[in-house]
Amino acid sequence: MALTVYNYLTRRKEEFKPVHEGQVGIYVCGPTIYDHAHVGHAKVYVSFDTIVRYLRYAGYKVRYVQNITDVGHLTDDADEGEDKILARASRDRVEPMELVETYMRSYFEDMDALNVVRPNISPRPSCHITEQIQLAEALLEKGHAYEVNGSIYFDVASWPEYGKLSGRRVEDQEEGARVAINPDKRHPADFAVWKKAEGGHILRWPSPWGWGYPGWHVECSVMATKYLGQPFDIHGGGLENVFPHNECEIAQSEASSDEPFCNYWLLNNMVTVEGTKMGKSLGNAIYLKELLERHDAMTIRFFVLSSHYRSVTDFGEEALAAAGRGLERLTSALALVRDQLRSAEGDQADADWTVKLDAYRGRFEEAMDDDFNTPRAIATLFDLSREVNTLLNSGQPVSRPTLEATSALYGELGGDVLGLRLDGTAAEGASLTDAGLLDGLVQMLIGVREEARQARDWAKADAIRDRLLEMGVSLEDGPQGTRWRLSR
Ligand code: ZN
Repeated sequence: MALTVYNYLTRRKEEFKPVHEGQVGIYVCGPTIYDHAHVGHAKVYVSFDTIVRYLRYAGYKVRYVQNITDVGHLTDDADEGEDKILARASRDRVEPMELVETYMRSYFEDMDALNVVRPNISPRPSCHITEQIQLAEALLEKGHAYEVNGSIYFDVASWPEYGKLSGRRVEDQEEGARVAINPDKRHPADFAVWKKAEGGHILRWPSPWGWGYPGWHVECSVMATKYLGQPFDIHGGGLENVFPHNECEIAQSEASSDEPFCNYWLLNNMVTVEGTKMGKSLGNAIYLKELLERHDAMTIRFFVLSSHYRSVTDFGEEALAAAGRGLERLTSALALVRDQLRSAEGDQADADWTVKLDAYRGRFEEAMDDDFNTPRAIATLFDLSREVNTLLNSGQPVSRPTLEATSALYGELGGDVLGLRLDGTAAEGASLTDAGLLDGLVQMLIGVREEARQARDWAKADAIRDRLLEMGVSLEDGPQGTRWRLSR
């Protein structure tokens, strides 16, 4: 069994072979921090979080680097317009770095809620100005860049491989060039490596060419190779940034060093809203904060994983409701297992069931080995849950080791790999100890309520149930006793 990934650079599925055995270096283009995160961010970062989780599950030591852009990203995504952060900061009348802190915290808050494991390194371009200047100098020295008026531009004509990732040819860009071509550029496709800071541009640093700031693409070239080496294994990001951003990253890194930049390009597809492209500029962006108020964070995570990372994810309330029902199929099967575990006996695992669990693990791994096919991996867990329900509702006693092995499999595949909190107890920020404590406390209250019911003190029994419900814990009475789950 070998992991294969769809490499956007070659447009083929390839067997994954890391540069250093047993280790993976992965860089994913991070967000530009000037507003709260939206559903598009959930798609990218939940997808790559799951990829990183699976690589770790498969035994790799992973170093995950994801930048936080705090300077240099201009409003037209290329070399023109205002710096997105400066524009928003002046509108809000705050310091640019104050704005960055606010939205960086907000971003991590939302990602934590979605159970996205934080990257090992979250570098910011404002802290890597020296390295970015060095890259510009290396390109000048090798004749791949030129200086005009305090700005440095990459000379695409000097590097014939320009366009190899996006498939765009330089000639096409000449024909389709924008009306207002920057007169400083020798070729319309040339892009800024360093830009001169015009009056009033306060995010600026001294350089050999005067006061300026780095071009947006330079940060990813510099920070990826600084922390992962060159070439490194995987570069991830959203397909919408393949051009010019990712294309320019490759050009700068390879032209300056004569080394390949990275071996595998994994790019995820976009999120649409009821069939239409979603975007901040289109005015239909759905903010995660707002969504998290109405929906359980795990439902949102499950929704993202229900489609493949390379497919378009169509967002809609109905699709989200379907994700909620899908998640419920997994959580209720696991709840049944946990429930029976409380009174289970025996110390022998059922041999047939053990074989079955191994087969499910095999199918799950096969799906994930096939370019991280999360919808198929989830389908495997649905099949498992169906069998679990049949077995546990059969009335036959199921031994403790059998139940423990089943619960552990959900924990590994659904929890560790897919990042879903299936036991419903480990809420945001809660540790496993907290989860155990929470379960203990709720079980105690269920016991007190049961005593009240036996004493026909219905008012007290109802008051316990209602108070718990107010706190987001709902109780369900069934033939096998009372179960609880978090209802928000
Ligand atoms: Zn990037």
